[in-house]
Amino acid sequence: MSAAVSVEKDLSATILLDDYLHLSFLDLDVEPSFHAALLGGLLYALQNVPHSVPATVLCPAAYLGSVFVTNRSAYENNPLDPNFPIIKSIIAHLQERSATTRFKVGKFNGLHITNSSDYLSVSLDTQPDLMFTSPGILLNTGSQRLFTKMIVTLKRHSSRKSTISNLDRTRHCVNDEFDFYPSDKTIWKSLRSTDISRLTRNFLWKCMHETFHVGTFWDNVPDLRHLAYCPTCAVPETMEHIALECDAPGQKRIWSLCERIWNLRFRQWPKLHWGLILGCALPRFRSTRGTRRLRGKERFFTILVSISIHLLWKLRNERVLEGKSVTNIEVENRWLSAINSALRRDQILTNKARFGSLSKSKQMVLETWSGVLQNEDALPDDWTRSKGGLVGIWPTTRRIGVG
Ligand SMILES: [Zn+2]
Repeated sequence: MSAAVSVEKDLSATILLDDYLHLSFLDLDVEPSFHAALLGGLLYALQNVPHSVPATVLCPAAYLGSVFVTNRSAYENNPLDPNFPIIKSIIAHLQERSATTRFKVGKFNGLHITNSSDYLSVSLDTQPDLMFTSPGILLNTGSQRLFTKMIVTLKRHSSRKSTISNLDRTRHCVNDEFDFYPSDKTIWKSLRSTDISRLTRNFLWKCMHETFHVGTFWDNVPDLRHLAYCPTCAVPETMEHIALECDAPGQKRIWSLCERIWNLRFRQWPKLHWGLILGCALPRFRSTRGTRRLRGKERFFTILVSISIHLLWKLRNERVLEGKSVTNIEVENRWLSAINSALRRDQILTNKARFGSLSKSKQMVLETWSGVLQNEDALPDDWTRSKGGLVGIWPTTRRIGVG
């Protein structure tokens, strides 16, 4: 965690925003300005402070208090504000937090930056979580003037070639496996599925657009053309290679873990192709007679594939960018931990009083996970409120079994 966030003994966090002004944000899609820098710093800090820790934001200007407290509704519903996308992201983060967040105008230390190399580049996740925000603005807060301006400023973006190609691959792979052709709209909607965690949704969205710097991206970068090749296999690197072909530790192991856990409940693990991975939130499994969709089985497939591909990407980055190597045991433990986090997320989301329309039905969660839990026979029929007994789907040793 950055030095600009201090967590005290009583488990409260103080965020000194002026300490963040030396950061430059790689994914901040707004015009650079002092306010944009404050917002970027706040978003970065919120992504580093645990949701359950109360936080006090010390800001060198009253701007943040105005945006997020006193005039929040005005800012939240003004898409013409140059910082609108990042404001929506921060509001989603604030709503996701279970502890309080206070804004205070604090002392400004001033900046001591002498040249551009003093700036530290960091990545921001600027996609708002759809579970904690609403797309667009409230209709009753708009005006004729605002809507006219919005229409005038709308730009038509031409589709990228790679995006069209990936949409087609997804469509055909889904049809090969599940016997239906999803439309573009259905595919995009599936990438917003709340069965997939927020970061993984963003990752899949970027995969569909091929925005990651892999393979041919490096062909035209002098002195860095070697980065176009997988360092392990010495072949041109693509997302498909990383996901399904690479010989580096992780790829084969992770998919074999998926198949093994799948076979505890179901017969045939679908043969994966890149298009099917992109369309992992579009499965259609039917009962033996074909009369009923098996929603629990579909969710389980979506969760398994989305978590696995995202973990593979993270392992690849650690290997290629940071030079870290992992053993197969570490891969298994990382995978198990990610799957258990999804299970806990599901359990928490069954709390209807807390999450309302965003909550998941107990029945759906039970249908998704029953059959793969450790010591499941000893658990109550409704184990969604049980604590502690559900964290081991898979042993962390080499033993195979449900526990
Ligand atoms: Zn490789």
